[in-house]
Amino acid sequence: MREYALTPGRLVDFHCHLDLYPDFEELVTECDRAQVFTLAVTTTPRAWPRNHALTKATKHVRAALGLHPQLVFERADEFSIWEEYLPDARYVGEVGLDASPRFYRSFDLQKRVFEQVLRACARTQDKILTLHSVRAVTAVLDMLETHLPAGKGNAVLHWFTGTKAEAQRARNLGCYFSINGEMLKNDRHRKTIAALPLDRLLTETDGPFTRSRNGEPARPKDVAATVEALALLLSMRFEEIATAIQNNLRRLVSN
Ligand code: MN
Repeated sequence: MREYALTPGRLVDFHCHLDLYPDFEELVTECDRAQVFTLAVTTTPRAWPRNHALTKATKHVRAALGLHPQLVFERADEFSIWEEYLPDARYVGEVGLDASPRFYRSFDLQKRVFEQVLRACARTQDKILTLHSVRAVTAVLDMLETHLPAGKGNAVLHWFTGTKAEAQRARNLGCYFSINGEMLKNDRHRKTIAALPLDRLLTETDGPFTRSRNGEPARPKDVAATVEALALLLSMRFEEIATAIQNNLRRLVSN
């Protein structure tokens, strides 16, 4: 499968729900034109065929095959569809666990589905996953350690809100972290982000669930504002951060 063609100095949005925007098709073109390396995540495997078809011939956009933990309660039976498409997918997500009050009643079911997802990915050993871990960082890391250890796959923790100790553990397990603008507005999360290793950082928008400066749902090109905020937080230049992030993506996809 053709990989991202990486060019120096470009932006990375490693987690965006392109198919939830009213102008999905135009947005794919916009990302390619703006040369923003974008991972189009999906929440149900039923969305995979269209996402894959619209992105596979682009230079900068790839689709990820997902089954969102918040949808598992109603859609656990779609795991068989997910599994059917897996051979065509290099990227997997959004998958993971959500133990927040609204979704806690499905937590055991979520764990069963997530275990199946990890085991399927471990069999092919070539997948890159973007993981949801709301109120469930330890459980996600426990399951990664058991079912998708380093060497069997690569995991990116999206919108990570764990503790410094959990971040250290994730780092030791080989995880990357994709950072969005909302995370950088929170003082506790800023401290955690500042302590993350630079060689494991990526950026994301998680659009349309975050807003750009103009108050509209963030689009992948808006990730520039997140690179700026990271540069301020880490006392580095924009170009240094952007280059580090692109090098990280290059390393991740060459594994
Ligand atoms: Mn998401």
